[in-house]
Amino acid sequence: MHEFSIASSIAHQLAELAQQHHRKLLSATVAIGPLSTVVPELLSEAWPHVIKGTDLEGATLHIKQMPVHARCNECSTVTEEYQPFVKCCKCGSLDLSIESGFELQILSAELADSAEEAGNS
Ligand SMILES: [Zn+2]
Repeated sequence: MHEFSIASSIAHQLAELAQQHHRKLLSATVAIGPLSTVVPELLSEAWPHVIKGTDLEGATLHIKQMPVHARCNECSTVTEEYQPFVKCCKCGSLDLSIESGFELQILSAELADSAEEAGNS
């Protein structure tokens, strides 16, 4: 189940980000393309286990599923599809150039307001 290692890698990057800003991570959004080989459901399941006991514990991971964009080499139509297997929506050709769909990236991160900690010190 490689979603665990991907979740740890994402958690690692977010932990560094939070540390740089001296804030706690509240939530983060990652973009997952159908061709990234990551199963969003498994990533969601892995997330709480990966962050348990770390500085990120309690942070929410939002997953934004990205579509595949494939340009047909026969008729130049661009097909948008949320499945990994794509054929041209216009002519049905399988001769396609994939333009996007491999995404696996952190889109945004929401950090806690630093004012919140001011009262503690
Ligand atoms: Zn076509």
